[in-house]
Amino acid sequence: MLTISREHVTDILKEGQIPAAFCSSGDIVAFETRDCYDDNDITEENPYGNRKGGLENPATGPLYVNGAEPGDILKVEIRTIRLREYGIMRTSATNGAFHHLYQDKTARRFYFETNRETGKQGFWFDDRQWLDCDPMIGVIGTAPEKEGVLTITPGIHGGNMDCSKITEGAVLYLPVFVTGALLSMGDLHARMGDGEVLICGLETAGTVTVEVTVLKAARHSVIQKALPLLKSGNKLMTIQSAETMDEAARLAAANMQQFVKGMTGLDDVNSGMLMSLLSDLAICQIVNPLQTVRCEFPEAVLETYGGYLP
Ligand code: CA
Ligand code: CA
Repeated sequence: MLTISREHVTDILKEGQIPAAFCSSGDIVAFETRDCYDDNDITEENPYGNRKGGLENPATGPLYVNGAEPGDILKVEIRTIRLREYGIMRTSATNGAFHHLYQDKTARRFYFETNRETGKQGFWFDDRQWLDCDPMIGVIGTAPEKEGVLTITPGIHGGNMDCSKITEGAVLYLPVFVTGALLSMGDLHARMGDGEVLICGLETAGTVTVEVTVLKAARHSVIQKALPLLKSGNKLMTIQSAETMDEAARLAAANMQQFVKGMTGLDDVNSGMLMSLLSDLAICQIVNPLQTVRCEFPEAVLETYGGYLP
């Protein structure tokens, strides 16, 4: 299997980057990622770590997918997410919903183990509280159109969406803006609540295995207008980012309405009514330079009308 090592990292997604690897549509590729701090030395005693010149939120890549042309759709199936043996959380005195409580950076490490009763991987938060891991990918995206976008920022190319539903088994549809798509990913979280309110998830490194497929735009124009689009569990989700959560929510809902309309053949009135009965808005994160909201809709309802995703 093709593997991109964690030597190949970037803090910006942009056109013209030298590919770390090349693959064909339908290939399975492993991405070895660093943690968001780009520092393996952060501990309780040493919350600032030792790494000088590390990247902020490094993403591994980019992967050049042969045959991907601007306007196409890159289908990314998340096969597996394997984690390093521990995760880190660290407070910030400048960012997060209640950063005013913190004067300094405080870090904690959590080591993963297997729960003897359930067999699930997780960790002890303290001597009372066990939490299961629910691994997700914080940063995943293609090279955006025009200007590069730092890996701390989300957008329609994907990027730092911090969507807790980008997990093993999920399928993410991303837009292709540049030849080869240039897919990168990183910023794994062992788990994270919606909102990422402190400023981080349980930050970790690991290996993500994905299958990438190029979908030609002409045959999938309904999907193309709804990107980034996620299939996770039994839900389909449009994910949008904007300067305010209000605007991100409006964009996510509007994209989902057009998607539902296109997939069902219902008109604007009836697709809007169906949406209002069945769709759920949820917050992905409120701590990045743009805020991210997703709109979820049950896949089975689309299938009632003959709407199936490729
Ligand atoms: Ca993130
Ligand atoms: Ca993170």
